[in-house]
Amino acid sequence: MNIPYYNLKRINDTVNDEVEKRIKQVIEDCDFILGKQVKEFEEEFAKFTGVKHCIGVDNGLDALHIILEALDLPKDSEVIVPSNTFIATALAVSYAGLKLVLVEPDEESMLINPNRIEEKITDKTRVIMPVHLYGTSCEMDDIMEISEKYHLYVIEDNAQAHGCVYKGKMTGSFGIASATSFYPGKNIGAYGDAGAITTDNDELAMKIRMLINYGSGEKYHHEYKGFNARMDEIQAAVLNVKIKYLLDWNEQRKKNVNFYFSHVHNEKIRMPINKEGAVWHIFPVRVDLDKRDDFMNYLENNGITSLIHYPIAIAEQKAYADELNPEDYQIASLLSHQVVSLPIYPFMKTEELQYICNVLNNWK
Ligand SMILES: *Cc1c(COP(=O)(O)O)cnc(C)c1O
Repeated sequence: MNIPYYNLKRINDTVNDEVEKRIKQVIEDCDFILGKQVKEFEEEFAKFTGVKHCIGVDNGLDALHIILEALDLPKDSEVIVPSNTFIATALAVSYAGLKLVLVEPDEESMLINPNRIEEKITDKTRVIMPVHLYGTSCEMDDIMEISEKYHLYVIEDNAQAHGCVYKGKMTGSFGIASATSFYPGKNIGAYGDAGAITTDNDELAMKIRMLINYGSGEKYHHEYKGFNARMDEIQAAVLNVKIKYLLDWNEQRKKNVNFYFSHVHNEKIRMPINKEGAVWHIFPVRVDLDKRDDFMNYLENNGITSLIHYPIAIAEQKAYADELNPEDYQIASLLSHQVVSLPIYPFMKTEELQYICNVLNNWK
């Protein structure tokens, strides 16, 4: 049996008739920039997340960056980011000209460790950016408590966690604002790049709307030196169809993950925590670091494609060699050598899951 890591075609084929109709309408109307589709999606995604405002943007990195710009922080501000996230979270801080401060994850949950956040707080710290990595929520009670104690902003990176719930509340609704991405492979993915910012703050929402549109509220009047970071109307048309299926697709991901939890019995394969409310963008198991190549080759030889999220820790990236010391981030480094992501996409067949579990159980 051949099982790809992700079968985007199988997912998209279920909605393409509706998507084509919507895209045709955009073409028909010649309404390409900040039109009806973007407006509709913003309303739907705000409702979905349980916040007052959603502003569609061009991608997840810009969403993170523009929130930081909108907060107008002093240039020597420090921003706390987990040491084991996707590079975009860190790049947003660098892009905004602020100082990146990495905090190690909890070894078990692989999420930013609240106990270690406090150690890194200085009089320059202004923001904590928790990342709901793999579609599992960070410990938001602890993080919000720390943010209140030290008067810090919380900006959630919700790129992997559309629909994830922490103690009855959606991720993306906790901090001053939250960024997300609709990169094609995300839980809802566009047919190209797209992202969004969610917030309950009216003033910030208004400023962000201007920042993504050349810093302008009224045409040719520019209050800020803004950007062009608008969500594309055609991508919004795709997302308006897909958002209707998001809960169902998330349920399918959870079901697939639960299948692994109940069928994989191999002491050499370490499962992640089955966290309540998770939407499982990625399902990372772990094996001994010196066995990982063997494990992945074994899967590939049995027709199963697995991936690594992420193979190189931020502090080990060349791009950050001038400001970060890899030695200081041992947990991120260890995780980067242990994790292996298994297929969990919606519309996987039970035979496919059964087959993967058999292969996993036979790995010696
Ligand atoms: C995908 C992702 C981003 C970046 O989103 P893009 O739309 O690809 O720019 C940021 N943070 C995390 C955690 C992501 O997974």
